Amino acid sequence: MVKKIIIESQWKTDPKFNDWAAEAVREFTELFPEFRDKFVIEDRKCHKPRGSVISEEKFNNLPDDAEKKLYVRLKNGRYLVPYQSTDWYVQQARLATNGRELDASVLSGLRLRHAQETNSTDIVIMLANSKFKPFCFGYGLEGYTSSISTSACRDKDFFKNIIKHELGHVFRATYAERSNIVEALGEHCTNPDCIMEKYTPDFTKHLNRPIEKPFCDECLESMREYMGNLPELKKTVSLTNDNASLPPAEEKKDDAWKKPLRDHFSAAVAKDGSHYAENTEAKNYQAQLRETDGTVTNIEASSPKHIAMSAVNKNGQVITPDLKKFRDIVQYARKNKMAIELGSIKTAEYRARLVLACLTETPPMEITNMPPLDDAFFDGVSPDIKAQILAQRQKPSPEKTAGFPDLPRGGGRS
Ligand SMILES: [Zn+2]
Ligand SMILES: [Zn+2]
Repeated sequence: MVKKIIIESQWKTDPKFNDWAAEAVREFTELFPEFRDKFVIEDRKCHKPRGSVISEEKFNNLPDDAEKKLYVRLKNGRYLVPYQSTDWYVQQARLATNGRELDASVLSGLRLRHAQETNSTDIVIMLANSKFKPFCFGYGLEGYTSSISTSACRDKDFFKNIIKHELGHVFRATYAERSNIVEALGEHCTNPDCIMEKYTPDFTKHLNRPIEKPFCDECLESMREYMGNLPELKKTVSLTNDNASLPPAEEKKDDAWKKPLRDHFSAAVAKDGSHYAENTEAKNYQAQLRETDGTVTNIEASSPKHIAMSAVNKNGQVITPDLKKFRDIVQYARKNKMAIELGSIKTAEYRARLVLACLTETPPMEITNMPPLDDAFFDGVSPDIKAQILAQRQKPSPEKTAGFPDLPRGGGRS
């Protein structure tokens, strides 16, 4: 799983602003090396995709429902389709106030509503061309979105610093219960030389230059903690039954990364009297676990977090590994403080056994991309495994399972 940060701008925005925003987001994510490979930046440029504007005739033929009321009529007689373009958000936010002014909190609020309705966890940075009223440079909403006024931030360093400040709000750098916080149009930081300082003319003077260490340690720590609880950013072990779907092994100077895998799986087989063999010549970690009945389980990993596992019986036929093997994988993940991600899995029985192994751990192991346990999930699953999963699901969960982050407590205006 990844955490997408989308940058999009209104029609006819100078493309340099999108470039600067992408640069700022990249520099921001580099502050968190442990999560860096989980962040994906998508620059949508001026976001007005095909189908986001329709003709008057098409509009007139739409059914008369609540949705139709959300279309925005343009001066040329055409209509902006709800939620489809940055311009729709901006125009709709204007209409929601008095039709002329653009309130950044209303603009971000519209985005938030749509994200919640569509269960999206993407973060969207919207670049609006006009100035906000009440005046601010940008507005960030915890967990979801921020909007920036390009006409209020025309200097490159200033613009980039505002983006980072708003991302600070998005990733909850500041919050009421933390120390060194002041409430001034949202929660802000009182530590010296921190970009999460509250807005004052004096503060903004400092933003006209690159800042080498933009956030204080306390703000960085808060963001780390927040990120660590997002399911999309959780460190995971991705398990697959398809070796070909493993990402290529990174170039590493030695084989030290294989040690935790070797230690774990050789200890696991020692316990049940099977035989462990490893191909130490291979670039990937490759181990064979041979049981007394002739069953062979192959474990291959291209990194500590990408594992493929498959098994054959004594006649060489491919079989689904037994539950114990899935438990070994889950325990490896727990030992290394990682959650489980269902990788590319081709059979229902395999997927179900992995889910069952997670559910029966104490406390249950988190699956970051948990599928709904519906008829489609159980199609092709053996009755025994299905019954065990259903029995687990009926137990009250001892621990709150990580899900959607708490709703934002408000935004920060700067
Ligand atoms: Zn700070
Ligand atoms: Zn702020």
